[in-house]
Amino acid sequence: MVFTSPQWVPQLPFDPPDSLSISEFMLNEQYGRQPIAHSRPPFTCGLTGLEYSAHQVKDRVDQLAKALSKELGWKPNQGTEWDKVAGIFSVNTVDTITLSWAIHRLSGVSSPANAVYSSSELEYQLRSSGSRALFTCLPLLSTALEAASKCNIPRNKVFLLQVPKQISGSQDPPKDIKTVDQLIQEGTSLPTLEALRWEKGQGARQTAFLCYSSGTSGLPKGVKISHRNVIGNTLQISTYESSARERLKQTEDRHDGTEVALGLLPQSHIYSLVVICHATLYRGDQVINLPKFELQSYLNAIQRFKINTLYVVPPIIINMAKNKKMCDKYNLHSVRGLFTGAAPLGEETAEELQKQYPAWEVRQGYGLTETATVCCMTASDDIWLGSSGSFLPMVEARIMSVDGVEITGYDQPGELVIKSPSVVLGYLNSDEADRATFEDGWMRTGDVAVVKKSPKGNEHCFIVDRIKELIKVKGLQVAPAELEAHLLTHPAVADCAVISVPDEAAGELPKAFVVKSASVGLEENDRMVVRNIQKHVEKHKAKHKWLKGGVVFVPEIPKSPSGKILRRMLKEKDKEARRQK
Ligand code: AMP
Repeated sequence: MVFTSPQWVPQLPFDPPDSLSISEFMLNEQYGRQPIAHSRPPFTCGLTGLEYSAHQVKDRVDQLAKALSKELGWKPNQGTEWDKVAGIFSVNTVDTITLSWAIHRLSGVSSPANAVYSSSELEYQLRSSGSRALFTCLPLLSTALEAASKCNIPRNKVFLLQVPKQISGSQDPPKDIKTVDQLIQEGTSLPTLEALRWEKGQGARQTAFLCYSSGTSGLPKGVKISHRNVIGNTLQISTYESSARERLKQTEDRHDGTEVALGLLPQSHIYSLVVICHATLYRGDQVINLPKFELQSYLNAIQRFKINTLYVVPPIIINMAKNKKMCDKYNLHSVRGLFTGAAPLGEETAEELQKQYPAWEVRQGYGLTETATVCCMTASDDIWLGSSGSFLPMVEARIMSVDGVEITGYDQPGELVIKSPSVVLGYLNSDEADRATFEDGWMRTGDVAVVKKSPKGNEHCFIVDRIKELIKVKGLQVAPAELEAHLLTHPAVADCAVISVPDEAAGELPKAFVVKSASVGLEENDRMVVRNIQKHVEKHKAKHKWLKGGVVFVPEIPKSPSGKILRRMLKEKDKEARRQK
């Protein structure tokens, strides 16, 4: 049984174009976007108020592409996209999407990395993606330079995105490193670039973004997201949302076209990249950018910019519930609703939030890097707390039981398998992972879902479990295989396995089971050894990967005859141990 979008969801206004770059699609009115003259400024800095109009963004993309072509020698119609990969390692800025679109204007690939990465994590991504240039920001410059030098990216191919003084402090950038603003300035006096001459279907074959995800198992891998994937999902989201809004208008006249949205989730993650940075802009919305979540500046920005929609992850909702007094000090009346994704939002948490703000629409979406991004989301006129909503237009979904039999009814859990124009091209240089994940346009999500019918008669998708080994901490990916490989480099660790344990604030936390190596003396204090192991992770890995779920010693790691770690068994045992506590 194939589940699809509800009948009221119109088909897309046209097939996602397959021969266009994302910026051509986003910046030209012929593809159905909100007319540029009626669009709000796409991005506004939530700390300084700096913003550019949609017209200015269009010009900045052009000028920047010209300057980058000169600096990097990249030509729009020469070579393959893999000769033109640029890493982006920065906190959110008002220019990050402008930069990606300028890279696309040269037929290049933008590979965004999380700003919390350590230099070795960034080095892994730069090396794996084959990045030839790196864009960063002043507070991250030394980390970026360290990683760049190890990957043979010369200093003159490292550039700076501007961030507000509140983040960078009063220090000036080094004189020999160009800023994106300088490049844009230089671009104004450079000759016009030749137009992109893409063959039919090139936008569906060519990678635009290379984001990193561990998929169902193993180390983080480059996910090849095509231009058409992003264009497709932008059309799917906006068609779905606008039809729900239209229906609402018949009964309730409150949605009036464009709106102001909050964007504080990392622009390197697919949720922010597609939902916040593309679907909103297509609708002519304005995104208020914050470099990171901090409750006071978040509330301040909502009040100051009269934000209508908050794009968040569940830990932010939990934080708001825990700090009701602080929230009550701010005028949040402009908020019409909140949209959450990237990790499960429990029904109870959603209900608590709804009690705190009864007038808000609490909506949830589900998606993956590999489906760039949203597969299903709540429609404003059929809110069911705990559900991830109905499937978007052009999404087909199947639910498969553990033994590979298709589930043909409601209320029965199984692995969710998705087909959609946004299912990505595959993983970079990982044929085995491709074979395990993608087949004939279908993608195995590694998530367990149940489809239920809402009282309004729409099919809703509930994500109830995860089969794949991925851990999600505050909506960010942690690959157990990456931590296990790192732990094995510690002299006290002979063998290990990392699993997730539930955590109220973060959703999940990584926990390590360790077999002590013979080199650990009998007289050594276990607590000291645990602390040493934790420090080993803290020194080299981003904070969300730290072993805050704990480290326990075990005599052996349960494995299958082929040597695969039996994570389910460890998880069950750990659950039992917690229950008995
Ligand atoms: P990422 O590729 O980082 O976006 O991670 C995708 C994974 O996040 C999915 O496979 C799910 O395991 C999880 N996820 C995303 N959205 C939801 C949701 N609404 N409910 C439950 N899990 C989610």
